[in-house]
Amino acid sequence: MSSFADPALSFDSPAWQTLLTRLADKTGELNATENKWPKEQFDWFAETGVLGWVIPEEYGGSALSSAELNLGYELLASACLCTTFVLTQRNGACQRIAGCEHEELKQRWLPDLCAGRKYATVGISHLTTSRQHLANPAVAAKSTEDGYLLNGTIPWVTAAVAADCIVTGATFEDGRQVLIALDTARSGVSCDEPEELLALTASQTGLVQLADVEVPEQALIAGPVPEVMKLGIGGGTGSLTTSALAVGLSRTAINLIREEAERRPDLEGILNSLDQTRMELTRKMWLSNSGEVDPDDPEYSSATIRQQANSLALRSSQAALTATKGRGFVQGHPAERLVREAMFFLVWSCPQPVAQAALREFACIAE
Ligand SMILES: Cc1cc2nc3c(=O)[nH]c(=O)nc-3n(C[C@H](O)[C@H](O)[C@H](O)COP(=O)(O)OP(=O)(O)OC[C@H]3O[C@@H](n4cnc5c(N)ncnc54)[C@H](O)[C@@H]3O)c2cc1C
Repeated sequence: MSSFADPALSFDSPAWQTLLTRLADKTGELNATENKWPKEQFDWFAETGVLGWVIPEEYGGSALSSAELNLGYELLASACLCTTFVLTQRNGACQRIAGCEHEELKQRWLPDLCAGRKYATVGISHLTTSRQHLANPAVAAKSTEDGYLLNGTIPWVTAAVAADCIVTGATFEDGRQVLIALDTARSGVSCDEPEELLALTASQTGLVQLADVEVPEQALIAGPVPEVMKLGIGGGTGSLTTSALAVGLSRTAINLIREEAERRPDLEGILNSLDQTRMELTRKMWLSNSGEVDPDDPEYSSATIRQQANSLALRSSQAALTATKGRGFVQGHPAERLVREAMFFLVWSCPQPVAQAALREFACIAE
């Protein structure tokens, strides 16, 4: 059995530790300044090879295993949630391009994405968790002689304004869907002003409008098929990435409680209990991602882990605020930022069963 303390990538190397320290030192500033974008943070990712994590070796990357990738996300998120979240959206785009069968498309994007010369992101929530109750698709597709014509609004795109490519989806009148690597330089693509958010505003998330955008067949990643996201290209939607980030945030909250506990022994029991849950989740994600447990065991399912990770993020951040008292409530204190950031996991890529479990927990309705 491989150990989650000993992944192939050295997460205890000096370069890695320096990266985490730099990210952590800047996270407050990144989240407090208007119109900030994690540019220098992405330069550090390029320097340390993080941009190659999900890119196959033949295009310049290092193609980490999913267990290593997930642990890497958890550690990065404990240093800076915002930058790590932006990275996951960029990686989601890279993984879908890398997972397709069109060599020309991969050659076109992957080497440049790996080197940091180009930037990509995803806008796919309208095929999974956003606007599912509406009758009309958010983005409509029609066939043309040499590709597709897209019209509509992509409801959520992180870092759209910085992106050269948006991996997105569109739906035909008959319900079939396509997944596309959309070049943002195409005529008819326009990004709305990024939204002001409860937290993570520096992710520069906003809507993207598509007005008669012509896309060539060569940009096709998958489809047309019904429910294109269920093909699971590039990892699919049931991955543990969101949970890794929630557990990463919990690490920071728990460390804040640890600092307080050094002077206040009454916090020790609280600290140990939360830390135990955090370690157990880190272990479960490693085992689940390494395929070392029965995939049908509900204890290791993505939904169960996500539910527990969300709960820990909310509880540990609020415990950190309680422990740091009024000082923690002052703007700029890590505790107030963590409490706001923890709320993100209630809405980001949150499938119905996970949202329902959270609502039941809030309403104190037993399982
Ligand atoms: C900061 C941030 C960044 C994100 N970045 C990305 C990204 O880069 N790429 C990406 O693909 N996605 C992204 N997402 C999208 C995310 O993963 C979810 O899909 C999104 O949060 C779902 O929320 P929604 O408001 O779109 O949901 P919707 O389900 O569309 O709900 C919108 C509103 O509709 C109403 N409503 C909801 N359900 C019903 C119902 N059954 N009946 C009647 N009315 C209803 C409610 O009033 C609700 O407020 C991001 C989200 C956030 C918050």
